[in-house]
Amino acid sequence: METVTPFREAIDEIKEAGGDAFKYCYQCGLCDTVCPWNRVSNFSMRHLVRQAAFGLPEIEGQDIWRCTTCGSCPQQCPRGVGTSDVAVSFRKIASKYGISPEPVHIVSASLGTEGNPLREARSNRADWAINLSVRSFTEGMEILYFPGCYPSYDSRLKKVAAATVSILNKAGVDFGILGDKENCCGESIRKAGNETLYKHLARENIKTFIDNGVHRILVSSPHCYHTFKNEYPEFNVNFEVVHITQYLSELVREGRLVLEKEYVKKITYHDPCYLGRHNGIYDEPRDILKNVPGLELVEMKEIRENSFCCGGGGGRIWMDTAKGERFSDVRLLQAAETVADELVTACPYCITNFEDSRLSMENGESIVIKDLTEIISEAI
Ligand code: SF4
Ligand code: SF4
Repeated sequence: METVTPFREAIDEIKEAGGDAFKYCYQCGLCDTVCPWNRVSNFSMRHLVRQAAFGLPEIEGQDIWRCTTCGSCPQQCPRGVGTSDVAVSFRKIASKYGISPEPVHIVSASLGTEGNPLREARSNRADWAINLSVRSFTEGMEILYFPGCYPSYDSRLKKVAAATVSILNKAGVDFGILGDKENCCGESIRKAGNETLYKHLARENIKTFIDNGVHRILVSSPHCYHTFKNEYPEFNVNFEVVHITQYLSELVREGRLVLEKEYVKKITYHDPCYLGRHNGIYDEPRDILKNVPGLELVEMKEIRENSFCCGGGGGRIWMDTAKGERFSDVRLLQAAETVADELVTACPYCITNFEDSRLSMENGESIVIKDLTEIISEAI
């Protein structure tokens, strides 16, 4: 006769929410040794996985919201446990019972009504492009440029969208944008446990892409890249998705973009988790930077597969992280050790966190934070 335990229902719920990888864990603790949390505070993914195995998710505590889904521990786990999937499964269960940090409630409401997490009006989504040479996307154009939420609305990140446009125009790319028809890609709210909202946003975007004859999509954010490329196919669609670092590499290779102006600075490059570990894009950004005349690329201690997370993935970009526990502060110190003039990256979340760290850290202002497009737009 089958034994029914009080925890059986919870275990089934965790499995259903995608967290069934816990069954392979043999509690070696390697995940805890590589987790960036343990460089700034204490957090045990091993403990969360153990809770999953026994159907005891502590969904009211803080720990289930800590994982940034940076991909470090799943990459190291000797048993192939999708550890962050376990954390996300707990969040899905918590969300079902209306339990999530206050910022996630606020963001969810804004995503549901306005299609962005920043509480900005949908009707203003294309304001960043006013006075720039940008057309609306029409069928037959070479590529759709999908800037995403932060480059559309955030005053710092709008500069990245503008730099991207200046590069595309210089290279003669036939591109357009969807403006207020664009919705958040939904990647981060999914990792924050709100699967229903993710599906709503994804379906809206997919319908818009199909209705407008979109085949190839250029994105600024590794998070948009990841979800369009690896998660939207769950809806039986397959768009060709290109991250800006890949596209710049393509434009240079084809001779459509010539990096001719000198940029005489020492630069260090930060690999965003969702570009690097999650999607294996390490070489293209470095190759482009090495092609800029006068630019010297110096590397930080932890790079490529071992890149140190900025702290913004998994919905953490919306949550408060106490001073002293911010991964981006640690990363900025690593950048400062290289004596680089500028820390360059290719993700709106990384830039947001690094800029915040720069402003709040002692001597933080000594390093300049840039998106890769901002350097390339000066070098053409
Ligand atoms: S590294 Fe893998 S096997 Fe080891 S404790 Fe973490 S999840 Fe379990
Ligand atoms: S995915 Fe990253 S943040 Fe999450 S538990 Fe693993 S190492 Fe820590």
